[in-house]
Amino acid sequence: MSKKETKYIFVVGGVMSSVGKGIAASSIGKILQSRGYRIANLKADMYVNIDAGTIRPAEHGEVFVGEDGIEADQDLGNYERFTNQVSTRENYITTGQVYAEVIRRERNLEYGGEDVEVYPDIPKEIIRRIKACQEKNKSEIVVIEYGGTVGEYQLLPFLEAARMMKSKNPNDVFIVLISYLPTPVLLGEQKSKPTQHAITDLHSVGLNPDFVICRSDLPATSDIKQTISNVCSLPIERIISAPDVYSIYDVPVNFEKENFGTTLLKTLSLPPRSKDLADWTALASKIKKIKKEVRIGIVGKYFNFKSCKDTYISVIESVNHAAWAMNLKPKIIWLDSEKYEKNPKLLSELDKLDGIIVPGGFGKRGTEGIILATDYARRKKIPYLGLCFGMQLLTIAYARHVLGFRDANSTEMDPHTKYPVIATMADQVDKIKNKNYGASMRLGAYDCVLTKDTVAFGAYKASKISERHRHRYEVNIKYIAELEKAGLVFSGRSPNGVLMEIAELPKKKHPFYLGTQFHPEFKSRPLKPHPLFSAFIKACERKK
Ligand code: GLN
Repeated sequence: MSKKETKYIFVVGGVMSSVGKGIAASSIGKILQSRGYRIANLKADMYVNIDAGTIRPAEHGEVFVGEDGIEADQDLGNYERFTNQVSTRENYITTGQVYAEVIRRERNLEYGGEDVEVYPDIPKEIIRRIKACQEKNKSEIVVIEYGGTVGEYQLLPFLEAARMMKSKNPNDVFIVLISYLPTPVLLGEQKSKPTQHAITDLHSVGLNPDFVICRSDLPATSDIKQTISNVCSLPIERIISAPDVYSIYDVPVNFEKENFGTTLLKTLSLPPRSKDLADWTALASKIKKIKKEVRIGIVGKYFNFKSCKDTYISVIESVNHAAWAMNLKPKIIWLDSEKYEKNPKLLSELDKLDGIIVPGGFGKRGTEGIILATDYARRKKIPYLGLCFGMQLLTIAYARHVLGFRDANSTEMDPHTKYPVIATMADQVDKIKNKNYGASMRLGAYDCVLTKDTVAFGAYKASKISERHRHRYEVNIKYIAELEKAGLVFSGRSPNGVLMEIAELPKKKHPFYLGTQFHPEFKSRPLKPHPLFSAFIKACERKK
Protein backbone atom coordinates (compact mmCIF):
# COMPACT_ATOMS: atom_id res chain seq x y z
CA MET A 1 0.00 0.00 0.00
CA SER A 2 1.50 3.34 -0.95
CA LYS A 3 1.94 5.98 1.70
CA LYS A 4 -0.68 8.15 0.00
CA GLU A 5 -3.36 5.70 0.99
CA THR A 6 -2.51 5.55 4.67
CA LYS A 7 -5.63 5.92 6.76
CA TYR A 8 -5.80 8.15 9.80
CA ILE A 9 -8.42 7.66 12.51
CA PHE A 10 -8.75 10.47 15.03
CA VAL A 11 -10.30 9.44 18.33
CA VAL A 12 -11.74 12.41 20.20
CA GLY A 13 -13.74 12.60 23.40
CA GLY A 14 -17.08 14.27 23.98
CA VAL A 15 -19.14 15.11 27.07
CA MET A 16 -16.53 14.24 29.68
CA SER A 17 -13.15 12.69 30.27
CA SER A 18 -12.31 9.36 31.92
CA VAL A 19 -14.85 7.33 29.98
CA GLY A 20 -12.24 5.02 28.49
CA LYS A 21 -11.02 6.83 25.42
CA GLY A 22 -7.62 5.18 25.75
CA ILE A 23 -9.14 1.72 25.92
CA ALA A 24 -11.39 2.52 22.95
CA ALA A 25 -8.40 3.75 20.90
CA SER A 26 -6.38 0.68 21.92
CA SER A 27 -9.31 -1.55 20.98
CA ILE A 28 -9.66 0.09 17.56
CA GLY A 29 -5.94 -0.58 17.03
CA LYS A 30 -6.42 -4.13 18.24
CA ILE A 31 -9.34 -5.03 15.98
CA LEU A 32 -7.67 -3.54 12.90
CA GLN A 33 -4.44 -5.35 13.74
CA SER A 34 -6.34 -8.59 14.30
CA ARG A 35 -7.64 -8.18 10.77
CA GLY A 36 -4.14 -8.15 9.41
CA TYR A 37 -3.47 -4.40 9.13
CA ARG A 38 -0.25 -2.72 10.19
CA ILE A 39 -1.32 -0.10 12.68
CA ALA A 40 0.17 2.52 14.99
CA ASN A 41 -1.47 4.06 18.03
CA LEU A 42 -0.51 7.61 18.86
CA LYS A 43 -1.49 9.78 21.84
CA ALA A 44 -1.63 13.56 21.67
CA ASP A 45 -1.90 15.32 25.03
CA MET A 46 -2.94 18.93 25.33
CA TYR A 47 -0.62 19.96 28.12
CA VAL A 48 2.39 22.23 27.65
CA ASN A 49 4.69 19.74 29.41
CA ILE A 50 7.19 18.26 26.97
CA ASP A 51 6.43 14.82 28.36
CA ALA A 52 4.72 13.17 31.31
CA GLY A 53 7.96 12.75 33.26
CA THR A 54 7.42 15.72 35.55
CA ILE A 55 3.73 15.14 36.23
CA ARG A 56 2.43 13.85 39.55
CA PRO A 57 1.21 10.25 39.07
CA ALA A 58 -1.41 10.39 41.85
CA GLU A 59 -3.35 12.97 39.85
CA HIS A 60 -2.54 12.20 36.24
CA GLY A 61 -1.81 8.51 36.27
CA GLU A 62 1.28 6.45 35.77
CA VAL A 63 4.22 7.67 33.73
CA PHE A 64 4.69 4.99 31.09
CA VAL A 65 8.25 4.46 29.84
CA GLY A 66 8.90 3.39 26.25
CA GLU A 67 11.81 1.30 24.96
CA ASP A 68 13.60 4.47 23.85
CA GLY A 69 13.07 6.10 27.25
CA ILE A 70 10.12 8.32 26.40
CA GLU A 71 8.18 9.20 29.57
CA ALA A 72 4.64 9.20 28.31
CA ASP A 73 1.00 9.18 29.21
CA GLN A 74 -0.32 5.91 30.62
CA ASP A 75 -2.37 5.31 27.46
CA LEU A 76 0.79 4.21 25.66
CA GLY A 77 0.79 1.33 28.12
CA ASN A 78 -2.73 0.41 27.08
CA TYR A 79 -1.69 0.50 23.42
CA GLU A 80 1.24 -1.81 24.13
CA ARG A 81 -0.86 -4.22 26.16
CA PHE A 82 -3.57 -4.38 23.51
CA THR A 83 -1.49 -4.46 20.34
CA ASN A 84 1.81 -5.80 21.67
CA GLN A 85 3.58 -3.08 19.66
CA VAL A 86 6.44 -1.19 21.22
CA SER A 87 5.98 2.57 21.68
CA THR A 88 8.66 5.15 21.10
CA ARG A 89 8.68 8.94 21.19
CA GLU A 90 6.97 9.03 17.78
CA ASN A 91 3.82 7.65 19.43
CA TYR A 92 3.40 10.59 21.75
CA ILE A 93 2.77 14.29 21.09
CA THR A 94 2.19 17.15 23.52
CA THR A 95 1.41 20.81 22.95
CA GLY A 96 4.79 21.50 24.58
CA GLN A 97 6.69 19.41 22.01
CA VAL A 98 4.86 21.08 19.16
CA TYR A 99 5.59 24.63 20.34
CA ALA A 100 9.19 23.80 21.32
CA GLU A 101 9.87 22.53 17.79
CA VAL A 102 8.17 25.45 16.04
CA ILE A 103 10.08 27.93 18.20
CA ARG A 104 13.36 26.09 17.63
CA ARG A 105 12.82 26.30 13.88
CA GLU A 106 11.92 29.96 14.07
CA ARG A 107 15.17 30.70 15.95
CA ASN A 108 17.05 28.85 13.19
CA LEU A 109 15.51 31.09 10.53
CA GLU A 110 13.72 28.08 9.06
CA TYR A 111 10.56 30.07 8.33
CA GLY A 112 12.41 32.19 5.74
CA GLY A 113 11.49 35.59 7.17
CA GLU A 114 7.77 34.86 7.53
CA ASP A 115 5.98 35.49 10.78
CA VAL A 116 5.10 32.28 12.57
CA GLU A 117 1.43 31.90 13.45
CA VAL A 118 -0.55 29.65 15.74
CA TYR A 119 -2.61 28.97 12.65
CA PRO A 120 -1.39 27.28 10.45
CA ASP A 121 2.09 26.62 11.81
CA ILE A 122 1.02 24.80 14.96
CA PRO A 123 -1.42 22.39 13.24
CA LYS A 124 1.16 21.85 10.50
CA GLU A 125 3.71 20.71 13.07
CA ILE A 126 1.08 18.41 14.61
CA ILE A 127 0.48 16.89 11.17
CA ARG A 128 4.22 16.47 10.61
CA ARG A 129 4.44 14.51 13.85
CA ILE A 130 1.46 12.31 13.03
CA LYS A 131 3.08 11.47 9.70
CA ALA A 132 6.44 10.81 11.38
CA CYS A 133 4.67 8.23 13.56
CA GLN A 134 3.20 6.59 10.47
CA GLU A 135 6.63 6.45 8.83
CA LYS A 136 8.40 5.08 11.89
CA ASN A 137 5.85 2.29 12.25
CA LYS A 138 5.33 1.79 8.51
CA SER A 139 1.67 1.59 9.38
CA GLU A 140 -1.27 1.34 7.02
CA ILE A 141 -3.59 2.84 9.62
CA VAL A 142 -2.72 5.34 12.35
CA VAL A 143 -5.08 5.70 15.31
CA ILE A 144 -4.57 9.11 16.89
CA GLU A 145 -6.11 9.62 20.31
CA TYR A 146 -6.60 13.20 21.44
CA GLY A 147 -6.55 13.89 25.18
CA GLY A 148 -9.31 16.07 26.61
CA THR A 149 -12.79 16.62 25.16
CA VAL A 150 -14.17 18.61 22.25
CA GLY A 151 -15.05 22.16 23.20
CA GLU A 152 -11.80 22.61 25.08
CA TYR A 153 -9.74 25.61 24.05
CA GLN A 154 -6.42 23.80 23.97
CA LEU A 155 -7.74 21.06 21.70
CA LEU A 156 -8.42 23.52 18.86
CA PRO A 157 -5.05 23.33 17.05
CA PHE A 158 -5.24 19.53 17.18
CA LEU A 159 -8.77 19.44 15.76
CA GLU A 160 -7.62 21.89 13.13
CA ALA A 161 -4.80 19.50 12.21
CA ALA A 162 -7.40 16.74 11.69
CA ARG A 163 -9.56 19.10 9.65
CA MET A 164 -6.64 20.16 7.44
CA MET A 165 -5.73 16.53 6.82
CA LYS A 166 -9.33 15.61 6.09
CA SER A 167 -9.92 18.47 3.68
CA LYS A 168 -6.83 17.38 1.73
CA ASN A 169 -7.62 13.64 1.78
CA PRO A 170 -11.29 13.23 2.67
CA ASN A 171 -11.21 9.49 1.97
CA ASP A 172 -8.27 8.79 4.24
CA VAL A 173 -9.11 10.69 7.41
CA PHE A 174 -11.81 9.67 9.87
CA ILE A 175 -13.17 10.92 13.16
CA VAL A 176 -14.39 8.68 15.95
CA LEU A 177 -16.19 10.45 18.75
CA ILE A 178 -16.17 8.69 22.12
CA SER A 179 -19.13 10.03 23.97
CA TYR A 180 -21.05 9.31 27.13
CA LEU A 181 -24.74 8.61 27.65
CA PRO A 182 -25.76 9.40 31.20
CA THR A 183 -28.73 7.70 32.83
CA PRO A 184 -29.83 10.05 35.64
CA VAL A 185 -30.98 7.93 38.58
CA LEU A 186 -34.25 9.80 39.00
CA LEU A 187 -35.16 9.42 35.34
CA GLY A 188 -33.90 5.91 34.82
CA GLU A 189 -33.58 6.71 31.14
CA GLN A 190 -30.53 7.08 28.88
CA LYS A 191 -29.97 10.62 27.63
CA SER A 192 -28.32 11.60 24.35
CA LYS A 193 -28.44 15.39 24.66
CA PRO A 194 -24.87 15.83 25.98
CA THR A 195 -23.64 13.72 23.03
CA GLN A 196 -25.65 15.89 20.63
CA HIS A 197 -23.89 18.94 22.07
CA ALA A 198 -20.50 17.28 21.63
CA ILE A 199 -21.36 16.61 17.98
CA THR A 200 -22.35 20.27 17.58
CA ASP A 201 -18.99 21.24 19.07
CA LEU A 202 -17.28 19.10 16.44
CA HIS A 203 -19.42 20.68 13.71
CA SER A 204 -18.32 24.13 14.90
CA VAL A 205 -14.72 23.27 13.98
CA GLY A 206 -15.68 21.83 10.61
CA LEU A 207 -15.71 18.14 11.54
CA ASN A 208 -18.45 15.53 11.56
CA PRO A 209 -17.86 12.21 13.27
CA ASP A 210 -17.65 9.11 11.10
CA PHE A 211 -18.42 6.95 14.11
CA VAL A 212 -19.86 7.66 17.53
CA ILE A 213 -18.95 5.25 20.29
CA CYS A 214 -21.47 5.53 23.09
CA ARG A 215 -20.04 4.77 26.51
CA SER A 216 -22.70 4.10 29.10
CA ASP A 217 -23.52 1.76 31.94
CA LEU A 218 -26.00 -0.24 29.85
CA PRO A 219 -26.03 -0.77 26.06
CA ALA A 220 -27.25 2.19 23.99
CA THR A 221 -30.91 1.76 23.09
CA SER A 222 -31.88 1.69 19.42
CA ASP A 223 -33.86 4.94 19.90
CA ILE A 224 -30.76 6.66 21.18
CA LYS A 225 -28.66 5.26 18.36
CA GLN A 226 -31.24 6.56 15.88
CA THR A 227 -31.24 10.05 17.43
CA ILE A 228 -27.46 10.27 17.36
CA SER A 229 -27.27 8.95 13.81
CA ASN A 230 -29.73 11.66 12.76
CA VAL A 231 -27.71 14.44 14.40
CA CYS A 232 -24.60 13.52 12.44
CA SER A 233 -26.24 12.06 9.32
CA LEU A 234 -24.62 8.67 9.78
CA PRO A 235 -26.00 5.22 9.06
CA ILE A 236 -27.07 3.67 12.34
CA GLU A 237 -24.43 0.92 12.19
CA ARG A 238 -21.83 3.62 12.75
CA ILE A 239 -23.22 4.35 16.19
CA ILE A 240 -21.45 1.83 18.41
CA SER A 241 -22.71 0.81 21.80
CA ALA A 242 -19.99 0.49 24.44
CA PRO A 243 -21.54 -0.38 27.80
CA ASP A 244 -19.52 -1.01 30.98
CA VAL A 245 -17.72 -4.34 30.81
CA TYR A 246 -16.26 -6.85 33.25
CA SER A 247 -12.69 -6.09 32.18
CA ILE A 248 -11.07 -3.71 29.73
CA TYR A 249 -10.08 -6.74 27.65
CA ASP A 250 -13.76 -7.21 26.77
CA VAL A 251 -13.86 -3.96 24.81
CA PRO A 252 -12.45 -5.22 21.47
CA VAL A 253 -14.66 -8.29 21.76
CA ASN A 254 -17.65 -6.10 22.40
CA PHE A 255 -16.73 -3.87 19.45
CA GLU A 256 -16.71 -6.93 17.20
CA LYS A 257 -20.13 -7.93 18.51
CA GLU A 258 -21.31 -4.54 17.24
CA ASN A 259 -19.70 -5.42 13.90
CA PHE A 260 -17.44 -2.41 14.35
CA GLY A 261 -14.41 -3.97 12.62
CA THR A 262 -16.27 -4.76 9.42
CA THR A 263 -18.09 -1.40 9.30
CA LEU A 264 -14.83 0.41 10.04
CA LEU A 265 -12.96 -1.27 7.17
CA LYS A 266 -15.90 -0.62 4.86
CA THR A 267 -15.90 3.05 5.86
CA LEU A 268 -12.14 3.26 5.35
CA SER A 269 -12.60 1.60 1.90
CA LEU A 270 -10.17 -1.12 2.94
CA PRO A 271 -10.69 -4.72 1.86
CA PRO A 272 -11.77 -7.13 4.57
CA ARG A 273 -9.01 -9.45 5.68
CA SER A 274 -9.39 -12.51 7.86
CA LYS A 275 -9.95 -11.90 11.54
CA ASP A 276 -8.05 -13.50 14.38
CA LEU A 277 -9.20 -12.46 17.81
CA ALA A 278 -9.68 -16.00 19.12
CA ASP A 279 -7.01 -16.09 21.86
CA TRP A 280 -8.00 -12.66 23.06
CA THR A 281 -11.70 -13.53 23.16
CA ALA A 282 -10.93 -16.73 25.04
CA LEU A 283 -8.94 -14.80 27.65
CA ALA A 284 -11.64 -12.15 28.06
CA SER A 285 -14.23 -14.82 28.71
CA LYS A 286 -11.97 -17.00 30.89
CA ILE A 287 -11.23 -14.24 33.40
CA LYS A 288 -14.90 -13.84 34.20
CA LYS A 289 -15.08 -17.40 35.41
CA ILE A 290 -12.07 -17.38 37.72
CA LYS A 291 -13.13 -17.66 41.36
CA LYS A 292 -10.03 -18.47 43.40
CA GLU A 293 -8.54 -15.26 44.82
CA VAL A 294 -4.96 -14.25 45.37
CA ARG A 295 -4.59 -11.28 47.75
CA ILE A 296 -1.85 -8.86 46.79
CA GLY A 297 -1.03 -5.77 48.84
CA ILE A 298 0.48 -2.77 47.11
CA VAL A 299 2.46 -0.73 49.61
CA GLY A 300 2.92 2.68 48.07
CA LYS A 301 2.83 6.39 48.61
CA TYR A 302 0.73 7.75 45.76
CA PHE A 303 -2.83 7.35 46.90
CA ASN A 304 -5.53 9.93 46.55
CA PHE A 305 -9.28 10.37 46.59
CA LYS A 306 -9.77 8.84 43.14
CA SER A 307 -8.56 5.34 42.81
CA CYS A 308 -5.04 4.07 42.59
CA LYS A 309 -5.83 2.25 39.41
CA ASP A 310 -4.41 4.90 37.11
CA THR A 311 -1.38 5.58 39.27
CA TYR A 312 -0.24 1.96 39.22
CA ILE A 313 -2.00 0.71 36.10
CA SER A 314 0.89 -1.28 34.58
CA VAL A 315 1.62 -2.93 37.94
CA ILE A 316 -2.03 -3.89 38.38
CA GLU A 317 -2.30 -5.22 34.84
CA SER A 318 0.92 -7.22 35.26
CA VAL A 319 -0.56 -8.84 38.38
CA ASN A 320 -3.75 -9.55 36.45
CA HIS A 321 -1.95 -11.14 33.50
CA ALA A 322 0.19 -13.41 35.68
CA ALA A 323 -2.68 -14.38 38.00
CA TRP A 324 -5.16 -15.09 35.20
CA ALA A 325 -2.65 -17.40 33.52
CA MET A 326 -2.68 -19.41 36.77
CA ASN A 327 -6.47 -19.28 37.04
CA LEU A 328 -6.33 -16.90 39.97
CA LYS A 329 -8.37 -13.77 40.50
CA PRO A 330 -6.27 -10.97 41.98
CA LYS A 331 -7.63 -8.96 44.84
CA ILE A 332 -5.52 -5.87 45.23
CA ILE A 333 -5.34 -4.18 48.61
CA TRP A 334 -4.04 -0.63 48.71
CA LEU A 335 -1.71 0.05 51.61
CA ASP A 336 -0.64 3.61 52.26
CA SER A 337 2.81 3.29 53.80
CA GLU A 338 2.48 6.38 56.00
CA LYS A 339 0.16 4.53 58.38
CA TYR A 340 2.97 2.12 59.32
CA GLU A 341 5.12 5.08 60.33
CA LYS A 342 2.41 6.29 62.68
CA ASN A 343 1.59 2.85 64.01
CA PRO A 344 3.99 -0.02 63.22
CA LYS A 345 1.58 -2.46 64.87
CA LEU A 346 -0.58 -2.17 61.77
CA LEU A 347 2.08 -4.14 59.89
CA SER A 348 0.45 -7.32 61.15
CA GLU A 349 -2.29 -6.75 58.55
CA LEU A 350 0.29 -7.93 56.00
CA ASP A 351 0.02 -11.45 57.46
CA LYS A 352 -3.37 -11.83 55.80
CA LEU A 353 -1.93 -11.20 52.34
CA ASP A 354 -0.51 -13.73 49.90
CA GLY A 355 2.16 -11.29 48.76
CA ILE A 356 3.14 -7.63 48.60
CA ILE A 357 4.47 -5.37 45.91
CA VAL A 358 6.35 -2.13 46.43
CA PRO A 359 6.10 -0.11 43.21
CA GLY A 360 8.17 2.82 41.98
CA GLY A 361 8.34 6.09 43.87
CA PHE A 362 10.26 9.25 44.52
CA GLY A 363 11.20 11.33 47.56
CA LYS A 364 11.21 10.90 51.31
CA ARG A 365 7.55 10.99 52.30
CA GLY A 366 6.23 7.59 53.28
CA THR A 367 9.50 5.72 52.71
CA GLU A 368 10.12 4.81 56.36
CA GLY A 369 6.75 3.04 56.33
CA ILE A 370 7.68 1.14 53.19
CA ILE A 371 11.02 0.11 54.70
CA LEU A 372 9.16 -1.26 57.75
CA ALA A 373 6.80 -3.24 55.50
CA THR A 374 9.73 -4.49 53.40
CA ASP A 375 11.56 -5.75 56.46
CA TYR A 376 8.36 -7.28 57.82
CA ALA A 377 7.88 -9.24 54.59
CA ARG A 378 11.42 -10.59 54.88
CA ARG A 379 11.02 -11.69 58.50
CA LYS A 380 7.54 -13.14 58.01
CA LYS A 381 8.44 -14.80 54.71
CA ILE A 382 5.69 -13.00 52.81
CA PRO A 383 6.38 -13.02 49.04
CA TYR A 384 7.73 -9.60 48.09
CA LEU A 385 8.30 -7.96 44.74
CA GLY A 386 10.00 -4.55 44.67
CA LEU A 387 9.91 -2.46 41.52
CA CYS A 388 12.68 0.13 41.18
CA PHE A 389 12.12 2.11 44.39
CA GLY A 390 10.98 -1.20 45.88
CA MET A 391 14.37 -2.75 45.11
CA GLN A 392 16.21 0.22 46.59
CA LEU A 393 14.13 0.09 49.78
CA LEU A 394 14.68 -3.66 50.01
CA THR A 395 18.42 -3.00 49.96
CA ILE A 396 18.10 -0.29 52.60
CA ALA A 397 15.96 -2.51 54.84
CA TYR A 398 18.51 -5.31 54.48
CA ALA A 399 21.42 -3.03 55.33
CA ARG A 400 19.63 -1.69 58.39
CA HIS A 401 18.18 -4.87 59.82
CA VAL A 402 20.59 -7.59 58.72
CA LEU A 403 23.90 -5.75 58.47
CA GLY A 404 23.02 -3.49 61.39
CA PHE A 405 23.74 -0.24 59.50
CA ARG A 406 21.25 1.64 61.63
CA ASP A 407 20.61 4.73 59.52
CA ALA A 408 21.35 3.23 56.10
CA ASN A 409 19.45 5.11 53.44
CA SER A 410 19.38 6.44 49.92
CA THR A 411 20.95 9.84 49.28
CA GLU A 412 17.57 10.69 47.73
CA MET A 413 15.96 10.61 51.17
CA ASP A 414 18.95 11.50 53.36
CA PRO A 415 21.93 13.09 51.60
CA HIS A 416 23.96 12.90 54.84
CA THR A 417 23.33 9.27 55.81
CA LYS A 418 26.31 7.46 57.31
CA TYR A 419 25.53 4.45 55.10
CA PRO A 420 24.45 5.58 51.61
CA VAL A 421 23.70 2.05 50.37
CA ILE A 422 21.66 3.64 47.60
CA ALA A 423 23.48 6.57 46.03
CA THR A 424 23.08 9.10 43.27
CA MET A 425 24.27 7.73 39.94
CA ALA A 426 27.46 9.53 38.88
CA ASP A 427 25.89 11.08 35.78
CA GLN A 428 22.98 12.40 37.83
CA VAL A 429 24.97 14.54 40.29
CA ASP A 430 25.26 17.60 38.05
CA LYS A 431 21.77 17.20 36.66
CA ILE A 432 20.27 17.36 40.15
CA LYS A 433 22.53 20.27 41.12
CA ASN A 434 21.45 22.24 38.03
CA LYS A 435 17.78 21.29 38.47
CA ASN A 436 17.87 19.60 35.11
CA TYR A 437 14.97 17.29 35.85
CA GLY A 438 13.24 16.82 32.48
CA ALA A 439 13.91 13.49 30.72
CA SER A 440 17.25 13.26 32.51
CA MET A 441 16.96 10.01 34.50
CA ARG A 442 18.41 6.71 33.33
CA LEU A 443 15.55 5.95 30.99
CA GLY A 444 14.39 3.18 28.71
CA ALA A 445 15.69 -0.25 27.75
CA TYR A 446 19.06 -1.52 28.99
CA ASP A 447 20.47 -5.03 29.00
CA CYS A 448 20.92 -6.96 32.19
CA VAL A 449 22.94 -10.13 32.73
CA LEU A 450 21.54 -12.77 35.10
CA THR A 451 23.45 -15.12 37.39
CA LYS A 452 22.68 -18.83 36.99
CA ASP A 453 20.88 -20.71 39.78
CA THR A 454 19.07 -17.68 41.11
CA VAL A 455 15.37 -16.90 41.46
CA ALA A 456 15.63 -14.35 38.65
CA PHE A 457 17.35 -16.79 36.29
CA GLY A 458 14.75 -19.43 37.13
CA ALA A 459 11.99 -17.01 36.20
CA TYR A 460 13.43 -15.67 32.95
CA LYS A 461 15.21 -18.88 31.91
CA ALA A 462 17.73 -16.70 30.11
CA SER A 463 21.09 -15.22 30.94
CA LYS A 464 20.63 -11.91 29.18
CA ILE A 465 17.48 -9.80 29.33
CA SER A 466 16.45 -6.25 28.46
CA GLU A 467 14.12 -4.16 30.60
CA ARG A 468 12.98 -0.55 30.87
CA HIS A 469 14.31 1.85 33.47
CA ARG A 470 13.51 5.14 35.13
CA HIS A 471 15.78 6.08 38.01
CA ARG A 472 18.48 8.46 39.28
CA TYR A 473 19.84 6.36 42.14
CA GLU A 474 21.50 2.94 42.27
CA VAL A 475 22.93 0.42 44.70
CA ASN A 476 26.19 1.91 45.95
CA ILE A 477 29.00 -0.32 44.67
CA LYS A 478 30.92 0.32 47.90
CA TYR A 479 28.49 -1.78 49.91
CA ILE A 480 27.99 -4.69 47.55
CA ALA A 481 30.57 -7.01 49.12
CA GLU A 482 29.13 -6.47 52.60
CA LEU A 483 25.53 -6.91 51.45
CA GLU A 484 26.44 -10.08 49.60
CA LYS A 485 28.36 -11.45 52.56
CA ALA A 486 25.23 -10.89 54.63
CA GLY A 487 23.24 -13.03 52.20
CA LEU A 488 21.70 -10.63 49.70
CA VAL A 489 22.21 -11.86 46.15
CA PHE A 490 22.59 -9.45 43.24
CA SER A 491 21.35 -11.80 40.58
CA GLY A 492 21.09 -9.26 37.78
CA ARG A 493 23.73 -6.71 36.76
CA SER A 494 24.46 -4.38 33.89
CA PRO A 495 26.68 -6.09 31.27
CA ASN A 496 29.74 -4.19 32.59
CA GLY A 497 28.96 -5.52 36.06
CA VAL A 498 28.82 -2.22 37.93
CA LEU A 499 25.09 -1.53 38.17
CA MET A 500 22.95 -3.82 40.32
CA GLU A 501 19.72 -4.60 38.47
CA ILE A 502 18.17 -7.32 40.68
CA ALA A 503 18.50 -8.04 44.41
CA GLU A 504 17.04 -11.22 45.87
CA LEU A 505 17.19 -13.73 48.69
CA PRO A 506 17.84 -17.35 47.72
CA LYS A 507 14.86 -19.71 47.67
CA LYS A 508 16.05 -21.62 50.70
CA LYS A 509 15.93 -18.45 52.78
CA HIS A 510 12.66 -16.92 51.58
CA PRO A 511 9.80 -18.08 49.32
CA PHE A 512 10.18 -14.98 47.13
CA TYR A 513 12.01 -11.80 48.06
CA LEU A 514 13.16 -9.94 44.99
CA GLY A 515 13.52 -6.38 43.78
CA THR A 516 14.38 -5.01 40.35
CA GLN A 517 16.04 -1.70 39.54
CA PHE A 518 14.03 -1.76 36.31
CA HIS A 519 10.27 -1.76 35.71
CA PRO A 520 9.16 -5.19 34.47
CA GLU A 521 5.53 -4.02 34.60
CA PHE A 522 5.92 -2.15 31.31
CA LYS A 523 6.46 -5.34 29.35
CA SER A 524 3.72 -7.64 30.64
CA ARG A 525 1.01 -8.53 28.11
CA PRO A 526 -2.40 -10.11 28.70
CA LEU A 527 -1.48 -13.20 26.69
CA LYS A 528 2.16 -13.15 27.73
CA PRO A 529 2.56 -12.43 31.44
CA HIS A 530 5.93 -11.15 32.61
CA PRO A 531 8.13 -13.99 33.98
CA LEU A 532 8.94 -12.17 37.23
CA PHE A 533 5.28 -11.44 37.95
CA SER A 534 4.49 -15.08 37.17
CA ALA A 535 7.19 -16.29 39.56
CA PHE A 536 5.93 -13.89 42.23
CA ILE A 537 2.28 -14.93 41.86
CA LYS A 538 3.33 -18.59 41.93
CA ALA A 539 5.01 -17.94 45.29
CA CYS A 540 1.87 -16.14 46.49
CA GLU A 541 -0.25 -19.11 45.50
CA ARG A 542 2.06 -21.42 47.39
CA LYS A 543 1.76 -19.26 50.49
CA LYS A 544 -2.01 -19.57 50.24
N1 GLN B 1 13.43 7.41 43.24
C1 GLN B 1 14.21 6.29 42.79
C2 GLN B 1 15.25 6.73 41.78
O1 GLN B 1 15.12 7.75 41.16
C3 GLN B 1 13.34 5.21 42.20
C4 GLN B 1 12.64 5.61 40.94
C5 GLN B 1 11.49 4.73 40.55
O2 GLN B 1 10.92 4.02 41.37
N2 GLN B 1 11.09 4.79 39.30
O3 GLN B 1 16.22 6.06 41.58
